[in-house]
Amino acid sequence: MTQVFKFGGASIQDAAAIRRLGELLARFPARPLVVVVSAMGKTTNALEALLDAAREGETHDYRDGLERLRREHLATVETLFGAKAGPVAERVEALITELDGRHRRHAGRERAFHYDQTVCFGELLSTTIVSAWLDESGIATRWLDARDLIITDACHQAANIDWHTTAQRLGELDLGNEKLLVTQGFIGSTQDGLSTTLGREGSDFSAAILAHCLDAEKATIWKDVPGLFNADPRRFDNAVQLAHLSYAEAVELAWHGAKVIHPKTLAPLQRKSIPLVVRSFETVDTAGSLIDGDTRDDGEHPYCILSEGQTLLEIRPRDFDFMDEARQHEILGHLVKAGLHAGLIDNTAMRLMLCLDSHPARLEPLVQSLVVDYEVVRQDDLTLLTVRHPSASLLAGFSEGREILAERRNATTAQYLFRTEACPETWHIPGQ
Ligand code: ASP
Ligand code: MG
Repeated sequence: MTQVFKFGGASIQDAAAIRRLGELLARFPARPLVVVVSAMGKTTNALEALLDAAREGETHDYRDGLERLRREHLATVETLFGAKAGPVAERVEALITELDGRHRRHAGRERAFHYDQTVCFGELLSTTIVSAWLDESGIATRWLDARDLIITDACHQAANIDWHTTAQRLGELDLGNEKLLVTQGFIGSTQDGLSTTLGREGSDFSAAILAHCLDAEKATIWKDVPGLFNADPRRFDNAVQLAHLSYAEAVELAWHGAKVIHPKTLAPLQRKSIPLVVRSFETVDTAGSLIDGDTRDDGEHPYCILSEGQTLLEIRPRDFDFMDEARQHEILGHLVKAGLHAGLIDNTAMRLMLCLDSHPARLEPLVQSLVVDYEVVRQDDLTLLTVRHPSASLLAGFSEGREILAERRNATTAQYLFRTEACPETWHIPGQ
């Protein structure tokens, strides 16, 4: 049965990492195996900077940026292939030339469209190199262009999947039983063949789409951490690894901002009961974390999620009137238009509180539209702590000696909003 593997930028960041990827994949001879790959290292960020330089007419920065991309990818190819680098280097050069041409062609178009026609090259470059390297190291591959398979609408930079056509295209694909299939994460195309992207960090979602449409037995996301933890181990000194959790719990964690897997990844897998494994490409012998439909282990540990860089808006009607449903509806409408997500919403008779990501380009227009009819008090530099399945003593431990600016609690989840300056650099989960 088909399996889908996804590898992120860190697992292919340079020649040494790509070699290790080859060694890892040599341990998985079963076919069909579809391998979804992101752009190398921080290439997507570099492509975004290149886009801005192109659009702002900063010719010097643009030339520099393009040359750096070219040099870095070619250096990887030369390190990997040595004397045999020629044909792969040629393909990389051709992609860079095409990228340059697209920047010239699309500079006058709307930014999101221009973005998708150019930022997709990170994955085209990485999969070209990875696929050639696997062939060279004895793992026969077939390179698939995800833009022929993952069909979307034209909502650029956040394209929505056309499930019907995508399933049809993938249904027609002969996976074969010999070659390992290599394709790009993050990218797709419209029915008319225009490139689209699925949103930053979207490669996990790509893997889930492929697993869903190919009725895969299992999907695996290979990361530089051994699996999922009950808190970010870089920020909590006693975070523990989770062996197992349910799709529903994983969706909650992703929704509340845990940067484990792209939030859209779980639904396509859940709909077909395809288990998802998150495991480390650095320690291949450890099991990782399993996500499936079984909810029995979900409350076993508290899960803590930190969202930093938060802003609190306290919104009151100017006329001492109620914050009724009509007003809430109106305010949330403004929020949707601004493209902002509220991590915490709380209301009383005359006030609505929204805790939002401090995204200046989106927040400013929102505040401007709200002050027309409302009194708005704003506080910046805040940290939102979300705890799933908390005990009372754990919450007491977290809030002790720290002013809570807003809070919300229901049967499964508690949230506290603190001033960031009142928060420690490294947290400790009380009583664990
Ligand atoms: N390369 C894209 C990004 O960095 C997609 C991904 O890595 O998942 O956002
Ligand atoms: Mg990435």
